[in-house]
Amino acid sequence: MIAIEGCAVATVDAAGDEYESGHVVVDGDRIVAVGPGTAPRDGADGGELRLVDGAGCLATPGLVNTHHHLYQWATRGLAQQENLFGWLTTLYPIWAGIDEELVAATAGAGLAWLALSGCTTSTDHHYVFPRGTGDLFAAEIAAAAEVGLRFHPGRGSMDLGASRGGLPPDHVVEETEAALAATEEAIDRHHDPSPGAMVRVAVAPCSPFSATPELMTGAAELARRKGVRLHTHLAETVEEEEFCLETQGCTPAEYAERLGWLGEDVWLAHAVHLSDAAVARFGATGTGVAHCPSSNARLGAGIARVPDLLTAGAPVGLGVDGAASQEAGQLGAELRQALYAARLRGGPAALTARDALALGTIGGARCLGRADELGSLEPGKLADVALWRLDGLGHAGIDDAVAALVFGPPAPLALLLVGGQEVVEGGELLTADAAAVTRRARRAHQRLMEVVV
Ligand SMILES: [Zn+2]
Repeated sequence: MIAIEGCAVATVDAAGDEYESGHVVVDGDRIVAVGPGTAPRDGADGGELRLVDGAGCLATPGLVNTHHHLYQWATRGLAQQENLFGWLTTLYPIWAGIDEELVAATAGAGLAWLALSGCTTSTDHHYVFPRGTGDLFAAEIAAAAEVGLRFHPGRGSMDLGASRGGLPPDHVVEETEAALAATEEAIDRHHDPSPGAMVRVAVAPCSPFSATPELMTGAAELARRKGVRLHTHLAETVEEEEFCLETQGCTPAEYAERLGWLGEDVWLAHAVHLSDAAVARFGATGTGVAHCPSSNARLGAGIARVPDLLTAGAPVGLGVDGAASQEAGQLGAELRQALYAARLRGGPAALTARDALALGTIGGARCLGRADELGSLEPGKLADVALWRLDGLGHAGIDDAVAALVFGPPAPLALLLVGGQEVVEGGELLTADAAAVTRRARRAHQRLMEVVV
């Protein structure tokens, strides 16, 4: 058992319970007690009890990252002034050179970096599968197991190459049927539907401009037959809307609905450009949104209508997005970025610090269909806990701990638990050698760029 006490606690439960000085007790992979004051000692039943002094800290649920492309860690800092389509057409030919070792190295780097910013559950959206380059999907799952994060990888796919009117070059796309078969195999091999699962697989064709309608509908059919979730990019940019109007005669949101892609089992990355009607449909259907404010800013894509989506009842989580369009890659920092983005669009009351924390925790858990197990500190939920240190120079003097976390600079972690296992302690990664992870990621980048040249 681990008992954290003497810290501020923001449970992010339905009542929004917070304690100025409280405790969180963990037994095995579950939370067994949360409340004000010191931790109860009676539940220890003779087992070993580790007491953690949380003085100067804030305990929150571990953050949930709802959108990422881990392999992009190898192509950071490129296409710096491009919009989405220009950025993609610059990077697709480079991404054609990825292989199993690169995916292992970059997934290790990206997930380690996420852990150090308070993330306990991450998705990944991997959609580049060059032929004969090894088992890329298994490589990133192995990397997540090593770092110790809960992982929801989406088996992505593209089948709409440039010769058929799509954006990616033909040599990086798959055949439709082959992509669906490989996705089904990935589910059969890696998806764990059981409670407390560390790995759940989603079906995730890449986007309307790189996947055919046949792949999109086939993917929805497959996901529903297998009981897994659906993920894709949607309504990210004005250019995407123009592409959709031209090729499908409707907006991306209307296209998604036509393909069977709105629903409680779907979460969509970005959803920046939505009409009032689309916002209402997302709410009515329970379609989730992975809000990626830094990536949207980096690519100049626009600002998602997060407060409107929340009012409509749509689940909204946060995503760092791939490291090639969001080099910072820290999920903790996205709390502040989400708050700022909402306020730039809707004024200073558009989103509160607590709203932002909810997006990064329970909102993300809802997007992944795991709000019953993740996203808040409550007895019975999985022991995914972030203990943030708020007594240093960066946060000193902000009395409201949640405001300090969200408005302040990225806070160091005193402790990060995933399923009760210690992943970060005292700001250091316990599960992997950060220096070795860094060297391996740098090598992967250098090797990829040599292939390109
Ligand atoms: Zn993305």
